Amino acid sequence: MPPPEIPPSGDPRRVAPHIALLPSAGMGHLAPFCRLAVALSDSGCDVSFITIQPTVSSAESRHVATLLAAFPRLRPLDFRLADFDPSAFASTDPFFLRFEAIRRSAHLLPTLLAATSPPVSALVVDISLASEFLPVVTGVGLPCYLLFTASAAMLSLCAHFPAYIANRTTAGVGDVDIPGLWTVPKASIPLPLYDPNNLFTTQFVENGRILQKADGILINTFYALEQEALDALNRGKVVPGLPPVVAMGPLKPVMGCEGGSALPWLDAQPARSVVYVSFGSRTAMSVDQMKELGSGLERSGCRFLWVVKSKVVDREEEVELEELLGEEYLERVKERGLVVKGWVEQEEILRHRAVGGFVSHCGWNSVTEAALHGVPILAWPRMGDQRVNAEVVARGGLGIWVKGWSWEGEEKVGSAEDIGERVRELMEDEGLRASAARLGMEAVKAVAVDGSSGQGLAQFIGKL
Ligand code: UDP
Ligand code: UDP
Repeated sequence: MPPPEIPPSGDPRRVAPHIALLPSAGMGHLAPFCRLAVALSDSGCDVSFITIQPTVSSAESRHVATLLAAFPRLRPLDFRLADFDPSAFASTDPFFLRFEAIRRSAHLLPTLLAATSPPVSALVVDISLASEFLPVVTGVGLPCYLLFTASAAMLSLCAHFPAYIANRTTAGVGDVDIPGLWTVPKASIPLPLYDPNNLFTTQFVENGRILQKADGILINTFYALEQEALDALNRGKVVPGLPPVVAMGPLKPVMGCEGGSALPWLDAQPARSVVYVSFGSRTAMSVDQMKELGSGLERSGCRFLWVVKSKVVDREEEVELEELLGEEYLERVKERGLVVKGWVEQEEILRHRAVGGFVSHCGWNSVTEAALHGVPILAWPRMGDQRVNAEVVARGGLGIWVKGWSWEGEEKVGSAEDIGERVRELMEDEGLRASAARLGMEAVKAVAVDGSSGQGLAQFIGKL
């Protein structure tokens, strides 16, 4: 049966649901919320977007400001956090600390919601905030949905992890066999989870435990890429009693922040000749590794567009490219390579006809953006959930993953020779190009009104 539709604007029966969205810290969490906000608003919902200032990175501030300016129909709701002392925690990760600061302000949400008009009819809360906010939202009588910002494979790990911890026979973490899915090897488990006292571990386990209590879990993925994990989750194999896991991706990028545009340079390059290299918004690379990567790109013989990032938080990026890579290098590669530091419009790059491959850390938004444009990935996961996502990329035919390249907590440096060879392989593999293109077509079909993700979105709205 098709989902009920919201009557069109002007219809007297129309009562648009008013959905409040609560994103968490970091571009990886903010970007899918911005996209969901626009998708819901385009479908006739009234949308309030909860904002928290100051943000950890300046990219987040710019992104929120651009969203609200471009879509004035989205209502900003300014959420003032309770006082928070980060020095009380052993963690130094600014994003995990901000998760905690937001989590500890959950009791302030009812006052914020009480001031909204028309009243809010449901909330969508970021996964990293789930265990603190879900009881508060349901306590005021509202439905609470979660948005999981990474892969369905990662959601399976999140859902199963509390049971894994409860049943393990030895201390520490080993390979984790996810019921109904596959075994995540120890090496692919996010490093903080090795330590039971890590702040992220506490949050991750508490959030995993509360999933069953949500009204639904929205996820930015699609069936052609992650059928196995979505089926395992929805058939109760991973954990019994989960609410519906609704795939609605790849959520369409809506706009970018201001930033240097690589378009004029890309416009001058032949079709599918450029490899785009980026490790996302919060994964820094050591100078030694950067130099090997630079040399690897040079050896590959391919044209490249490389976004260099040397600090976790963009506000701390002070050193110039010349100092990081050397003027000689930049001079040598300038005919074939564009090296930039700072924000680029990734979406316009991945959509550009000159781009034929993507060396990516496999942050989930990057993966979904590559999928949407059918751009094959050479996966170089560096931390967190990225190896789990890289497994999805490799299994789904979207890319290749060379296991064993340097990872969080390791001193080793991937060699220029190896990198160069793999980049060339990425750009020359016709079979991979075809399978990524096929997946791109499936992604476009999925988000159409009658596609699996389009229907997922409509069914979610229909329930409100
Ligand atoms: N992004 C961008 N320009 C940049 C760096 C990142 O547009 O210079 C966007 C990217 O397109 C994605 C998001 O920021 O939408 C990063 O999220 P992802 O999950 O890929 O990785 P994270 O930054 O969370 O590690
Ligand atoms: N995540 C989770 N539970 C949490 C916090 C995060 O399952 O309590 C997931 C999140 O969706 C992502 C992964 O854990 O898949 C790593 O989170 P982080 O914020 O480090 O990643 P980012 O998206 O910023 O790259």
